[in-house]
Amino acid sequence: MARQGGGDGAEGVRPGLVGEGRAARRRSRTRDAVLDHLERQRAFVSTTDVLQALAGELPRLSRGTVYRAIRLLEDDGLLDVVMHERGFPLYRRCSRPDRHAHLVCSTCRRVVELDPPAFDVVEAGARAAGCVEVSVAVLVRGVCAACRRPEG
Ligand SMILES: [Zn+2]
Ligand SMILES: [Zn+2]
Repeated sequence: MARQGGGDGAEGVRPGLVGEGRAARRRSRTRDAVLDHLERQRAFVSTTDVLQALAGELPRLSRGTVYRAIRLLEDDGLLDVVMHERGFPLYRRCSRPDRHAHLVCSTCRRVVELDPPAFDVVEAGARAAGCVEVSVAVLVRGVCAACRRPEG
């Protein structure tokens, strides 16, 4: 599945229903709606939040469809993900394109974007240990500046 440069020399042959490779993925209305919704969010949202928000626009939308759309967008690197403290993922499409980390305020749920720690160093360490397909996710917990109680 993960092989790269999968062109078999048969240029001009359309992938048909196999759909292998990112370019071959059909852009669905659901996928576009989900991406558009996540681009407009200020806070990170759950799959359930997305489903509820899009229910008016796409009344036949099911949880499974939203789940799959999010998975594809995530696979394509289009989404930012943080883990809720109860263990389920929350999504958003951040406006900043560079790699960065997130702090979700434990008081107001606002997301604070942080300049990344040394992602490359961590990845290099994982590769040095013989691991492949490494990705680094950073979980930062805290209380944002707005919610922080004044000292004293
Ligand atoms: Zn972000
Ligand atoms: Zn806060």
